[in-house]
Amino acid sequence: MKYYDEDSYRFHEKDMPDKCFCCSHNAERLLIVRHIESQMMVHLCLECMVECSDDYLLDNTRPWLGPQKKP
Ligand SMILES: [Zn+2]
Repeated sequence: MKYYDEDSYRFHEKDMPDKCFCCSHNAERLLIVRHIESQMMVHLCLECMVECSDDYLLDNTRPWLGPQKKP
């Protein structure tokens, strides 16, 4: 298992960098978000981010890779 040094940016032990943590599918674009239950970082596809937004938080210290939303 490989973790980032900084405690606050540890990835979930079941997280795979090229797969969505939620649905396990390979996605072209994955977001790095915080899994609220474990407080760990995970990779999430856009669909799961929309469907499960109650369980995950965008960490705004990480770059937002999706399309910018205008206010
Ligand atoms: Zn997914």
